[in-house]
Amino acid sequence: MFLKHLECSACGRCHEWSRLQNLCVSCQKPLLAIVDLAAASRTLTRESLATREKSLWRYREVLPLPGELEPVSLGEGGTPLLRASGSCRTGDIDLWIKEESLNPTQSFKARGMTVAVSMAKYLGAEKLAVPSAGNAGGALAAYAARAGLEAHIFMPRDTPRANIIECRELAAHVTLIDGLITDCAAEIARRKEKEGWFDMSTLKEPYRVEGKKTLGYELAEQFAWQLPDVILYPTGGGTGLIGMWKAFDEMEMLGWIGKKRPRMFAVQATGCAPMVRAFEAGEKTAAEFSDAHTIASGLRVPKAIGDFLILNILRQSKGGAVAVDDEEMIRVARDVGSKEGLFVCPEGAACFAAFKSLHRAGKVGSGEQVVIFNTGSGIKYLECYNG
Ligand SMILES: *Cc1c(COP(=O)(O)O)cnc(C)c1O
Ligand SMILES: [Zn+2]
Repeated sequence: MFLKHLECSACGRCHEWSRLQNLCVSCQKPLLAIVDLAAASRTLTRESLATREKSLWRYREVLPLPGELEPVSLGEGGTPLLRASGSCRTGDIDLWIKEESLNPTQSFKARGMTVAVSMAKYLGAEKLAVPSAGNAGGALAAYAARAGLEAHIFMPRDTPRANIIECRELAAHVTLIDGLITDCAAEIARRKEKEGWFDMSTLKEPYRVEGKKTLGYELAEQFAWQLPDVILYPTGGGTGLIGMWKAFDEMEMLGWIGKKRPRMFAVQATGCAPMVRAFEAGEKTAAEFSDAHTIASGLRVPKAIGDFLILNILRQSKGGAVAVDDEEMIRVARDVGSKEGLFVCPEGAACFAAFKSLHRAGKVGSGEQVVIFNTGSGIKYLECYNG
């Protein structure tokens, strides 16, 4: 393993990786894993990847977990990068879809959980807890079951039925809360000490983002080590955005890519758009979005602990933030279904809608290569698509 230490993303303080921990002990901000890339690059080369299994564990040297240990895996990652059919493309834009619904539990949350659960188990956790408005719960339940650990999942009562049933069938302890994901997180924070739960919340432990960073490695590999011009990412807690950005820096240090970065766009729902509001106001952090509501449950995150990281990436990359309303998501999902043959989740549909509005506004230019993330399957959201 080439993990050196954990570093606070805000104050830079170093933490040892060798014990279970959540946030920075000084400032309570997220910790990020620092990998010894020089050592990792002795065996991990672009050429060596060609012969490895498709799973995201193909990037083993830049992921945590001692090399002799078997990861808790269900075959995650290695998802298709599909070229959009002519009819979804607009003008001469080269549009691509990263199809993440093919992951275990039908969403890209599996990427984060395979790594985070593997490390939590290795470091001695027995009971894992997560607040989830949707897919994070199912993914934790699956990987915890696979690892022989307990999963305690707190969900808003209006979470899509499929997510709740899935968690129960995967033998998780499910508690429904009258409130939002932030209320679920508060309930875990209140009880975790006494119950002996390890908190697996987005960015409150260091390794889900390591799993998500493989999105960046995979994109680069699938595009033959040329990053696209624009990335549209449906943003809740922002782990994918933060993870991909980290992957780009790591790959540059590995000498695999150059300095060029995609313009990164966070896509949110009009009913819960803290990043869009903060981006437009020029703020460094995002205030809690009150009365948050949207059918895109993965985007129903009124307050993100990594807000300052997300906003920094959007600005540094010269990207931006776009809000899409729920009716538009449903309409666009049907359009994508008819043209691409993909039953996308509302979060993915939001990215297609955002692409159209960016294109109309002249913010993506002709000849540019654009990637949309379809982060999950429409099958999990039958209530939304009904009728
Ligand atoms: C969780 C989720 C998102 C948001 O991901 P973050 O990493 O929290 O920003 C987007 N789409 C789907 C389907 C999700 O489950
Ligand atoms: Zn700190």
